Amino acid sequence: MPHVVVVGSGIVGLASARALAQQGHDVTVLEKEERLASHQTGRNSGVIHSGLYYKPGSHKALMSRAGVRSMTAYAEDRGIAHEICGKLVVATRESEVPALRALAERAQQNGVPSRLVSAAEAREHEPHVAAVEALRVDSTGIIDYPGVCVALAEDVTEAGGQVLLGARFERARSTTDGVDVLTSQGRISADWLVNCAGLQSDVVAQRSGLVPEARIVPFRGEYFELVPGREDLVRGLIYPVPDPALPFLGVHLTKMINGSVHAGPNAVFAFAREGYRWRDVNVRETASALAWPGLWRLAGRFGTTGVGEVVRSASRRVFARSLARLVPDIGVDDITPSPAGVRAQALRRDGTMVDDFLIQRAQNQVHVLNAPSPAATCALEIADHVARQVTQGA
Ligand SMILES: Cc1cc2nc3c(=O)[nH]c(=O)nc-3n(C[C@H](O)[C@H](O)[C@H](O)COP(=O)(O)OP(=O)(O)OC[C@H]3O[C@@H](n4cnc5c(N)ncnc54)[C@H](O)[C@@H]3O)c2cc1C
Repeated sequence: MPHVVVVGSGIVGLASARALAQQGHDVTVLEKEERLASHQTGRNSGVIHSGLYYKPGSHKALMSRAGVRSMTAYAEDRGIAHEICGKLVVATRESEVPALRALAERAQQNGVPSRLVSAAEAREHEPHVAAVEALRVDSTGIIDYPGVCVALAEDVTEAGGQVLLGARFERARSTTDGVDVLTSQGRISADWLVNCAGLQSDVVAQRSGLVPEARIVPFRGEYFELVPGREDLVRGLIYPVPDPALPFLGVHLTKMINGSVHAGPNAVFAFAREGYRWRDVNVRETASALAWPGLWRLAGRFGTTGVGEVVRSASRRVFARSLARLVPDIGVDDITPSPAGVRAQALRRDGTMVDDFLIQRAQNQVHVLNAPSPAATCALEIADHVARQVTQGA
């Protein structure tokens, strides 16, 4: 039975481990933290994205369309908290209507059921929203992703695999018939290595002998949440019309599965890949990011936007003003800071962001090198893709 070492117990690593274990592989998951889903998966917005934004035909578009169904079915099957509450993308001024309609066309190209609605109908869904026109997507939902990870880990062990917590991947070397993996708990002789290390995926790739075409740049997303008693300002998910030039969706309001309402995130460069506060600085990681020419090229293109995001990050008042564009009743006293998340975004040397999921195969190795949002939604589909790479290469 081929032995596969999977690095990372985020949703992508655990889903890949589950797919491989259920196909009869002997699977070992290495997780450097003491609990599952400590990084991106445990700190995200908890949305099951329906796939309206993405380039038609891309992995993101195809996999999220399938992911909405498969993730919802998995949650139903395993009793994981979720709700298909629907989403409104709102144009808050006339000048945003052309972009909203372009988004509606893209949703159609991607086969995502959605419809343009008037301001009055938008308020039937979200009574406090400010809209001149909106796009309603019924299939978008919310879910407990850490709960999904617990269930996936159970599936892995039930299928005979193991999940090792506090086990750090150090480096790997392909041999004639497999991979030698060095971990903080000793050496493992495996047939395959699967890298799902999220924010550290380029580092793990480099330490396995690969020269990745892109580097991970960490963007911290800071959240606020509505204070108790004001959650009824939002019933589901309210998003702005996105700026197609930017990789993130803009500050939005998200009902979470525990009933709270999160606002955000914004996106600022993080001075540590796993740094969740302004004062978290990792000198080695920051120096390595600053040495990557792509970061400077990106900063040249988005400098002004970046400054705006930093201002919003530092000021609750400015953050509240961004939210009030969507829901005018939200004031500065209605929001309170909430834990941040850091996004792993792969950036090429020329400063362009890798838009789609990026999965690369090397000798006896598969590396997931870019799995940003909506990769949580698409985890079961990414996992099938990863498992195919292993079985086809075996
Ligand atoms: C703020 C924010 C909001 C988001 N919102 C959504 C959303 O609403 N819906 C959605 O679909 N997606 C969303 N995403 C994206 C989604 O969370 C990620 O795409 C997904 O969680 C990626 O999962 P992963 O398993 O690749 O990475 P991670 O969850 O980051 O897991 C990687 C794991 O690898 C481990 N690891 C790293 N290095 C090593 C090593 N050397 N040895 C052992 N273990 C190691 C880490 O400790 C970590 O546990 C959001 C992301 C963020 C940050």
